[in-house]
Amino acid sequence: MSPLSQVNLPTYPLERFHKVVEPDVLEHASAVLERSRDLLDGRTVWHVNSTAEGGGVAEMLRSLLAYARGSGIDARWAVIEGEPEFFRITKRLHHALHGSLGDGSPLGAQAARAYGEVLNPNLKSFLDDVRPGDTVFLHDPQTAGMAASLMAHGATVIWRCHIGTEDSTPETEEGWSFLAPHIRDVPLRIFSRKAYIPAVLNDNRSKVVQPSIDAFSTKNEELEDDVARAILTQAGLITGPPGDGPRSFTRGDGSTGLVERQASVLREDAAPVWNDPLVVQVSRWDPLKDHGGVMQGFASFVDRYDQNGRTQLVLAGPDVSGVTDDPEGGIVLEELKGLWATFPKHLRSRMHLASLPMEDVGENAAIVNALQRHATIIVQKSLREGFGLTLTEAMWKSRPVIASRVGGLQDQVTHEEDGLLLDNPTDVEALGDALGRIIKDRPLATRLGSNAKERVRANFLGIRHLAQYHDLLNTLLS
Ligand code: UDP
Repeated sequence: MSPLSQVNLPTYPLERFHKVVEPDVLEHASAVLERSRDLLDGRTVWHVNSTAEGGGVAEMLRSLLAYARGSGIDARWAVIEGEPEFFRITKRLHHALHGSLGDGSPLGAQAARAYGEVLNPNLKSFLDDVRPGDTVFLHDPQTAGMAASLMAHGATVIWRCHIGTEDSTPETEEGWSFLAPHIRDVPLRIFSRKAYIPAVLNDNRSKVVQPSIDAFSTKNEELEDDVARAILTQAGLITGPPGDGPRSFTRGDGSTGLVERQASVLREDAAPVWNDPLVVQVSRWDPLKDHGGVMQGFASFVDRYDQNGRTQLVLAGPDVSGVTDDPEGGIVLEELKGLWATFPKHLRSRMHLASLPMEDVGENAAIVNALQRHATIIVQKSLREGFGLTLTEAMWKSRPVIASRVGGLQDQVTHEEDGLLLDNPTDVEALGDALGRIIKDRPLATRLGSNAKERVRANFLGIRHLAQYHDLLNTLLS
């Protein structure tokens, strides 16, 4: 069996964007993609990463590649496979590039060997598919070690890094020492922020492209209130009569799906009812997302601003058995359950830890969409964040957002204009205050939400992203 698998991709017409962007934006993107198609002349553009489901990279690839295909480009997506030890090492690297210690294990020769041993069989099967002249985008540390062999095979290799931190610390140095030799010679490296380009790779081959969301995906499609209500009731995230709406969503291939499964939720008693104000954070179960800090900030908000109110907190993340490249998820979730149990009952009864079903990506996306659209306030209190697509998604849904002033979150929100930023990501009282402000000031909530949507329209939709990738590729190919 081949260790590397290809993901089936839909094909979407770029013209769809006429509904959400100005005509000149669409014209520019069409022209860039047309030029790529001509320069590629039938050759394939591959993207390779380590998971087809869960997390921001998979989310973006699915739709960007579908639009590239819709523009006549043979775009394909391959996913490498690895053992738990490989993903432990790459998670260690992931933490290192964010400047944190992770499990603190050495990143020396032994780790390098284990890393290579997993990539070799992946490469072997991939080289059967890649033709000289094809372009290969390798995503993140998991795939960086494939670059040299692919270049030797005659492919144009681009390394796309979705993570990073602006600081240079002993941890980042160690992470980059491990990775840089693999990607020093590729003709193009793409980072999400300028500040993430490490000194060792700071040359004219390193460029910046900000991430994006797909306005038309299951995750972001418009949903009527009654549909959101039916979906959330079915998923067990709210209680009470489901209303008359269908619990339906549109799949990537255009067919209709129904939400069937339930989230697995740790809660004291009942789920919130439809009219309860909801504070929501949607994230993988990762220490850098600081779910614990969100609970503490929420507790501070309840005790100081909402003692007689009914505001509830939902922390939603993927069912941990469904995310193969993140071995830490289960441990983090267990720790959070322990923390949850330490809060007094009046707070526990307002805090819900929800693991969303992952068996069906469409269903998972529909639940996330309904939850984000129904949220009164969306929080992204990460301690570090590469970009933070969950924030973009929330802003596109006109939600008032509160985010830490870290990483890519601060590139998305202009404080007081299209959201609120927390200067100190560990200041839980400040989160409590920000929640209190928005809950009490509906005009503020509405203004922040509608500005947020415009911010995303202008900057963070897939059409801009895809055009930038292909602009860079066109320069390389010509
Ligand atoms: N996500 C999801 N289901 C979940 C939790 C998260 O689909 O149960 C999605 C979320 O909507 C977003 C992505 O995973 O599209 C996370 O991307 P982000 O950039 O916020 O963080 P990352 O996980 O890449 O660190």
